[in-house]
Amino acid sequence: MSVRIDRDRCIGCRKCVEVCPGNLLICKNSKAEIRDVRDCWGCTACVKICPRDAIHFYLAADLGGSGGKLFARDSQDTLTWILKLPNGIEKQIVVDKNQSNQY
Ligand code: SF4
Ligand code: SF4
Repeated sequence: MSVRIDRDRCIGCRKCVEVCPGNLLICKNSKAEIRDVRDCWGCTACVKICPRDAIHFYLAADLGGSGGKLFARDSQDTLTWILKLPNGIEKQIVVDKNQSNQY
């Protein structure tokens, strides 16, 4: 798995920079970048906090197909994971944040 940042969607809010526990993300010219994707251990904190769906996880073949991407939309009560596969299929998993300890 690796994190990729869509520069066109990024608004430079720095939320991902502040949340990354490994200090792997930086903001250059108001756009987020990852220093080295090989250092990312996939905690997904940046994916969940990005308000612009600009950070995607690209999934390995055994998880979602080569090129499948996963991103998250946060709201007050739910976190919705959206999986887009290369063949156009889209799947969603909605997590009730008030019950998230059960997952
Ligand atoms: S959280 Fe999203 S929009 Fe904000 S700087 Fe990071 S990638 Fe850009
Ligand atoms: S997934 Fe976690 S470790 Fe990787 S860049 Fe995002 S916040 Fe940092």
